[in-house]
Amino acid sequence: MVPVIALVGRPNVGKSTLFNRLTKSRDAIVADVAGLTRDRQYGEAVWQGRPYIVVDTGGLTGDEHGIDSIMAGQSLQAIEEADAVLFLVDARAGRTAGDEMIAEHLRKRDKHTFLIANKIDGADQDSIIGEFAPLGLGEPICIAAAHGRNINPMLEAVLVKG
Ligand code: GDP
Ligand code: MG
Repeated sequence: MVPVIALVGRPNVGKSTLFNRLTKSRDAIVADVAGLTRDRQYGEAVWQGRPYIVVDTGGLTGDEHGIDSIMAGQSLQAIEEADAVLFLVDARAGRTAGDEMIAEHLRKRDKHTFLIANKIDGADQDSIIGEFAPLGLGEPICIAAAHGRNINPMLEAVLVKG
């Protein structure tokens, strides 16, 4: 079975940028406009001979009230379908209330979840780890999707060790 990996998180954290990098496509729309990716996008990818399917989502606005509404619709569906969930947070924005609601939902699910701090660019990783540790999902894997930084260690953690 080819594993299905879902990318979830608030708008603008870099899910579509990561999707495009993993699938080497430009199918997902990357923009600063929050919530632009309305439908789930499925892409095929291969890493070191291992095929997998990556799912981009856009549905968690963080503006809605309560975990049920925030997790509603296609993002919730994507989590249910996935073998593993990559929960992306924005290292430059820091931890937000929306992140905490998503984390609370994911902690309750019997899903393999990886916390991914994106946009590390030049930032100090230790402070980012401290920032996101309270989400209760372990230490984040720090990446910069736009620059391709740390993508291989992330995929190794998800596809090999995971
Ligand atoms: P999505 O809404 O979660 O799908 O986020 P997008 O992939 O559309 O990205 C939102 C914005 O973050 C875009 O302007 C991206 O170029 C930017 N972005 C994505 N990854 C990085 C990164 O590693 N570093 C920086 N500085 N910006 C990034
Ligand atoms: Mg998107």
